[in-house]
Amino acid sequence: MIIDGKIVAADIKQRLKQEIDAAVASGRRQPRLEIISVGDDPASKVYVRNKIKAAEEVGIVVSHLTFPADEDTFWVRNSIERYAGSPDVDGIMIQLPLPDGWNERELIDMIPPSKDVDGLTTTNIGRLRSGQKCLKPCTAAGIIDLCKYYDIELDGKDVTIIGRSNIVSKPLADMMMAEGATVTQCHSHTKDLSKYTRPADIVVSAIGKPKFIGRGYIGYEQVVIDVGINRDEEGQLCGDVDFDNVKESCSAITPVPGGVGPMTVAELMSNTVESWRKRI
Ligand code: NAD
Repeated sequence: MIIDGKIVAADIKQRLKQEIDAAVASGRRQPRLEIISVGDDPASKVYVRNKIKAAEEVGIVVSHLTFPADEDTFWVRNSIERYAGSPDVDGIMIQLPLPDGWNERELIDMIPPSKDVDGLTTTNIGRLRSGQKCLKPCTAAGIIDLCKYYDIELDGKDVTIIGRSNIVSKPLADMMMAEGATVTQCHSHTKDLSKYTRPADIVVSAIGKPKFIGRGYIGYEQVVIDVGINRDEEGQLCGDVDFDNVKESCSAITPVPGGVGPMTVAELMSNTVESWRKRI
């Protein structure tokens, strides 16, 4: 089975649009999302464009502030403070990665947790870890929703996550555990990766290496979730998983593009609407 993130993301966005349309028809304001980016990373530009397009589709008012990499951090902080204090702003997100020399953690933690629609502030990460309600990191939330949509059972399953990033893999481990999965977290210092990936029921790869996960890492009838967004030797978009090589042995697999990526964007919209719902 190919797990189609485009279908699930479209379904989420359709439901959000209906909710916003109904609220606006009854005189409420639209949700509002502020995106901040620094520098001119080409991949980030594409991601921001996709986020703006999705926001416009569902009826979220979106604006994008972009700063040159050599800008004084004062102006970025100043914008975050302004958005933080505005009653009409529901979501603030900083497009990552920031250029070298920028302190990501310091800037992210200036976002009030209630407007942290990427779910990356220290407060929201702590809330997630301790099982409290919070805005959740979008990619991890997207993976859980993909599994639910496709009736992929998580309770009691063995899940191996490759990667230990704060953005994707650590929050995903927390969310998988909350769903009742037994989680193994691997990373670049893991000796003998296949020892952990082959016996798992579900393998999630978030390492950022094109087609790294070949047949040798995959068992039989596994669910394989590919988070990686990479370019192959021909410059084509591809995941961490060597899709053509492993797809026959999996019970379900996400493609790249069209798997986890669209879900990340849809979850950002969902978090913005969740924040707006509380505010209105
Ligand atoms: P990161 O670069 O912060 O971390 C990579 C992780 O992979 C590290 O924890 C490292 O220990 C691990 N790793 C590297 N080489 C390894 C190896 N040989 N064996 C085992 N582990 C290894 O990663 P990130 O920010 O989580 O992103 C990972 C990938 O996911 C990237 O390709 C990124 O572009 C992509 N991504 C996709 C989405 C999406 O929406 N689909 C969202 C975020 C990130």
